[in-house]
Amino acid sequence: MRAAVLSEINIPMTIEDLTFGEPIAGEALVRVITAGVCHSDLHFIEGTYKRSLPMVLGHEVAGVVEAVGPGVTNVCQPKGQK
Ligand SMILES: [Zn+2]
Repeated sequence: MRAAVLSEINIPMTIEDLTFGEPIAGEALVRVITAGVCHSDLHFIEGTYKRSLPMVLGHEVAGVVEAVGPGVTNVCQPKGQK
């Protein structure tokens, strides 16, 4: 998967090819068709929203669920919400 990766605050993101293993408990593996980088990502880049780095930017995605880890019964709502 090609991804926009932020490695350091206020340093331009890099486009990298990443690979992922099978999903673990509570995770879903999604083949991303498209993703948007929004204002929240700008806060991560500028450091006003704290997050451990490196991180993949673009949390607003559309894609196809390829696999789910143990315990995943729904990929449309956050855990604990109905
Ligand atoms: Zn957003």
